[in-house]
Amino acid sequence: MKDTLQKIPYIYADNAATTRVSPTAVAAMLPYFDTLYGNPSSLHTCGQEAAVALLQARETVASLLHADPKEITFTSGGSEADNQALLTGALLGARKGKKHIISTKFEHHAVLHTLDKLKKEGFSVTLLDVHENGIVRPEDVAAALQEDTCLVSIMFANNEIGTLQPIREIGALCRERGVLFHTDAVQAVGHVPVDVVEMNIDMLSLSAHKFHGPKGVGALYARRGIRPSILIEGGAQERGRRAGTENIPGIMGMAVAMQEAVDHMEENAARITAQRDRIIEGLSKIPYACLNGDREHRVPGTINFCFEGVEGESLLLLLDMRGIAASSGSACTSGSLDPSHVLLALGLPHEVAHGSLRLSLGDDITAQQADHIVQSVTEVIAYLRNMSPVWDELEKGEIAHWLTKEGGRNHAVQ
Ligand SMILES: *Cc1c(COP(=O)(O)O)cnc(C)c1O
Repeated sequence: MKDTLQKIPYIYADNAATTRVSPTAVAAMLPYFDTLYGNPSSLHTCGQEAAVALLQARETVASLLHADPKEITFTSGGSEADNQALLTGALLGARKGKKHIISTKFEHHAVLHTLDKLKKEGFSVTLLDVHENGIVRPEDVAAALQEDTCLVSIMFANNEIGTLQPIREIGALCRERGVLFHTDAVQAVGHVPVDVVEMNIDMLSLSAHKFHGPKGVGALYARRGIRPSILIEGGAQERGRRAGTENIPGIMGMAVAMQEAVDHMEENAARITAQRDRIIEGLSKIPYACLNGDREHRVPGTINFCFEGVEGESLLLLLDMRGIAASSGSACTSGSLDPSHVLLALGLPHEVAHGSLRLSLGDDITAQQADHIVQSVTEVIAYLRNMSPVWDELEKGEIAHWLTKEGGRNHAVQ
């Protein structure tokens, strides 16, 4: 049994959920567990060595975003940074009597659930449409801005479908109107160029484990003049903005992984994009299948397809048995039977959104693996459709296809 399992080449295509920690990052973390384990708040040498490391990590993270070290607050990850950014924008706005927030329908739940909480506290929230291509239009943002808008929060790259948003344009618009602009850049940092100054970003969230750093560590960038509201009370760490003894090993691992990701960004993006396109081309040959999200404006590694007449969960399990680790959406969505809010935001009906597959490629992906993915998905889809009563009804014309055979939307049905 063990033998057969080892012979299957395991392909990890779930990098949007989390990534392998790079060996360089692991090596950079190790000393901070055993020899340099001091608390940076301690005045003795052991503590001060950790304080120096913290300072250097902050400089690295800041410089890779084109920010100042004082603008970086280390957090426990992307979720915490999102929570803190939204709370900051809301509280700063409320002080001026501004209680309207603009975001989108396809944000990560760390943003959407925080907005729900703020709504209960008396804020009003406009969630913008992301259209069929999964891209927010700057003109929609402009039209939604009100006199009392205090914050706009729009993700840089979507975690389920990979589409990139017009961040620079939206940032410019917000800057012009004096409204704070936050972006959840967890899927972008380390994968595509991010420059907070040039892109008019006031606040930004990032997370180490999405770019080959460790889990449980991230950062919030808040432009000079914006004092982040305190989420975790209790100490003077992070200049009083985030209490708790710093996760020094994690922070060191994050800084090294981020440097590595940015240093190799171009070559990695080129390699991943080539295999991504190979897979998209291959999967597009499956009848009644569609690529979700704009074909061009996307991060290098993320692919999301819907297949009519197929259950996403069965597809995942059968792919796993063939040595391919994929996802049917966000890690939080899979496991529940609700279809992904992201796919519904694209206007897909529940039954089509259920048959979704997300493949998020790593920088070690080869052409051979890409071909293996295409072949396996094609075979598994045929197998599942063969057993599916829904597919049978679609084939007999008892229910109408929502997609065309070539993968377009069948507008007659809509
Ligand atoms: C993963 C992810 C988060 C959450 O980050 P954690 O570090 O896991 O808390 C937030 N937003 C997006 C877009 C993500 O992909």
